[in-house]
Amino acid sequence: MKRIPMLINGEWVGDDRHEWMPVFNPSNGKKIAEIVKGNERHVDDAVSAAQRAFESDEWQKVKPFERGQLLVNLANYIRENADQWSEWECADVGKPISQARADVEAAARYFEFYGGAADKVMGDSIPIEDGILNVTVLEPLGVTAHIIPWNYPLQIISRSVAAAIATGNAVIVKSAEDTPMTAHAIAEWFVASGLPKGIFQHVTGLGSEVGGPLASHPDIAHVTFTGSVNTGISVMKAAADNVVPVTLELGGKSPNIVFADASEEKALEGVVKAIIQNAGQTCSAGSRLLVEASYKEEFLSKLKEKFSKLTIGPGSEDNDIGPILNKRQYDQIMSRIEEAKSIGKIVTGGKSVTIEGSEGGFYIEPTIIDELSHSCSLAQEEIFGPVLSVFTFNDVEDAIQLANGTDYGLVAGVWTQNIDVAHYVASKMKSGQVFINNYGAAGGIQMPFGGYKKSGIGREKGFIALRNYTQIKNIAVKFGI
Ligand code: NAD
Repeated sequence: MKRIPMLINGEWVGDDRHEWMPVFNPSNGKKIAEIVKGNERHVDDAVSAAQRAFESDEWQKVKPFERGQLLVNLANYIRENADQWSEWECADVGKPISQARADVEAAARYFEFYGGAADKVMGDSIPIEDGILNVTVLEPLGVTAHIIPWNYPLQIISRSVAAAIATGNAVIVKSAEDTPMTAHAIAEWFVASGLPKGIFQHVTGLGSEVGGPLASHPDIAHVTFTGSVNTGISVMKAAADNVVPVTLELGGKSPNIVFADASEEKALEGVVKAIIQNAGQTCSAGSRLLVEASYKEEFLSKLKEKFSKLTIGPGSEDNDIGPILNKRQYDQIMSRIEEAKSIGKIVTGGKSVTIEGSEGGFYIEPTIIDELSHSCSLAQEEIFGPVLSVFTFNDVEDAIQLANGTDYGLVAGVWTQNIDVAHYVASKMKSGQVFINNYGAAGGIQMPFGGYKKSGIGREKGFIALRNYTQIKNIAVKFGI
């Protein structure tokens, strides 16, 4: 059992004088670690240390390409220790080990990508008139806060921290209560890297006691928050009091739109993977299947067959579907399934599963729900489990209306062989990413990711995200002899 201290001002904070919170392995319910129950004072200490570190000559003199090299070194370190990091992520989140491995590789890619970008963040020269040189300079913001959810902790920390450090900021990570392991591993690496203390810090504890004070701290220059819509709203309100920008990555209710001319096997695989990845505990999960009415019966019966072959079990055994994070999440999903039984029809699944030897874990069969009204809350709200709801459409406009018919707009999948239909539908989607004849494009570190509507504000991933962590200064020089 590991005791995970916080990293504040280069020191490990956490001893017998602190309160500790347990961390469990979702696969079997066993306690695997403890984190410090931090508080507002810890946040204050971290923010002052970050400010000092940010202003220090030691950090200001680090050249952009050197910041880049540092991040690439971290990427290499993660790859060299990929087995260990995958085991931590698998134990922390419960996800199948192959998915944890993919997350570890994605984390390495983020540090590598933004490491490579660090010395390519450039301003413009803007023509004004003869005798004036006008340039823009992109400067770091200062101290940036990164509030992390439990479902993809390593990937989500890596994508925003890498971009923020590449652009010269000092970062404070607040990891989720349930999944601190890889944040701590990154903290350990930063300590060993010899960077000025305070450039990377890690605080832990409850959202209300640590996340809240961090988001509302007057000396934070930017908040990147990934999590639920309600918490996102409160983070945004807190930041608004300080006139501080936020990047919000919130939830989704993403559709997979399957036309009758879709390449069937690819569409089936895409639809299955989109909902079972990380047991459906994925913001971009394809949780709504919209299928052309004439094709529904055939597609659904083949989908049901695919669902029946999925394996369920502990993350370390690399089944198709791992456990649900904890009892609270499990109860929430099961209550939505119960509700579905009374207002719709369970096509397959719908029950909890007990795994011999892993009785302490919470497992749920992959579930398909049919015959729901699209306006009901089950069809509109995130369930955050391996639960797919099915709806039909009669024509392209009908499909577009259904696809856009929720408060979310994170991702949409379109499955058709008709290039005109594919592009037309993509152009009409109110969502941050559209995938045609695939779902996810292998993760895509380079592809901007973020939401329309209540799925969020701003974009992460890709070059565009570097702008989140910089501000523009315009300098006009008048010259002449
Ligand atoms: P959550 O909102 O409960 O918690 C997210 C983080 O915020 C945690 O670290 C938590 O401690 C902290 N927090 C809680 N209350 C806070 C407060 N008042 N102020 C500041 N911080 C606070 O979300 P969760 O349950 O951890 O994650 C699930 C949700 O996240 C889902 O809705 C999912 O769709 C979304 N999500 C979105 C993305 C994305 O990139 N769009 C990725 C992963 C998860």
